[in-house]
Amino acid sequence: MAKSADKCSFCGRSRRESLMLIAGLEGHICDQCVMQAQIILSEQMAAEKHNNLPDVSPMKPVEIKKYLDQFVIGQDEAKKVIAVAVYNHYKRLAHTKVAKSGDVEIEKSNIVVVGETGTGKTLLARTVAKMLNVPFCIADATALTEAGYVGEDVESILARLLQVADYNVAAAERGIIFIDEIDKIARKSDNPSITRDVSGEGVQQALLKMLEGSIVNVPPQGGRKHPEQKMIQINTQNILFITGGAFDGIEKKISNRLQTNKIGYKSDRKHESIDKDNILQYITPVDLKAFGLIPELVGRLPIVTYMHTLDRHTLRRILTEPKNSLIKQYTKLFELDNIKVTFEEDALAFVVDKAIEFKLGARGLRSILEGIMVDAMFELPSNSSTKTFQVSASFVEAQFRKTSMAHLKVA
Ligand code: ADP
Repeated sequence: MAKSADKCSFCGRSRRESLMLIAGLEGHICDQCVMQAQIILSEQMAAEKHNNLPDVSPMKPVEIKKYLDQFVIGQDEAKKVIAVAVYNHYKRLAHTKVAKSGDVEIEKSNIVVVGETGTGKTLLARTVAKMLNVPFCIADATALTEAGYVGEDVESILARLLQVADYNVAAAERGIIFIDEIDKIARKSDNPSITRDVSGEGVQQALLKMLEGSIVNVPPQGGRKHPEQKMIQINTQNILFITGGAFDGIEKKISNRLQTNKIGYKSDRKHESIDKDNILQYITPVDLKAFGLIPELVGRLPIVTYMHTLDRHTLRRILTEPKNSLIKQYTKLFELDNIKVTFEEDALAFVVDKAIEFKLGARGLRSILEGIMVDAMFELPSNSSTKTFQVSASFVEAQFRKTSMAHLKVA
């Protein structure tokens, strides 16, 4: 018979039956019991994390907007609308928990953000998630297809959220999902589908239940912690969906509607003038329907807001103002090599001009700057005598001419 020193005090396995036997003061533990204990511990910790999730937003809408201001430049209307929506979302969570039958039911506030690509829609959604410290994932509506067809089905979005949440179902159930390019699954004609529309209306239909709040069976997709489990159930009731899209041409639909209304109510609206340069500000759910989103989907995305096209002034601010702005990042990178870099105003103006010229928006600022800075980033770290580096307009112009972008034809 094995001596007590030669077996696990928990399961009784002998030294020969285990990979390793770890000695304690009065007993031993085998490798398998250690692993078992770790599983119990992580499950317990996940449960506690769930219980500790806040039910009310730690911030009021004004504070939420101030937080967003640190990362997203301009876009004040969208930031305000989203701050209120997020705040109400949290209030709804708290209310649902204590609500008695017959109480007013606060509906979920999923959001649509309409605006050109590169205006900060994803950044805004990501920043909200960071602020709330909840799991966040991005899905591309164009990759989705109706269940049963080749492509991703909508459950895959939840699988991704679950992965981001490290398979903590409770955390995932309070996460935020950003669905990009929602406009690309619009119905192609106003005529409700006669033939099957796999990538458009079918996907809209498939999204409905998830947006509304339901229990969805999610395949864990290689979920290492649940190899034995085929499906994980996720309740989407408290997941906040933020959807975004460029909705190319929607301005025309808005203008048409405004015009028709104007004629219909001529006497009331005679003195109202429409700001033709910023038609998006008048967007309503009706326009999303006219664009080709099915009414049921529009109904589940009750909050509609818009993003401005980024003008020169905003692009210039984006270069330096956000908490982790590009210029702050370059300054830090050089600082780590003990080089103090400064950017002249004209140099920044040149970068902004190029982003506008090539119609690259804020996303272009980075690629332009990378091209301009690459030589300096290559050479200066090896040059121990350089302690300061002034980035002037003539320097950026000369460097830009060397980049492949300089040869692009402006569309
Ligand atoms: P969209 O989702 O509208 O296509 P993104 O949010 O992906 O645009 O923006 C692309 C990048 O451009 C962001 O990562 C960010 O660096 C920058 N950017 C865009 N808009 C803004 C903004 N309003 N404020 C700060 N940075 C911005």
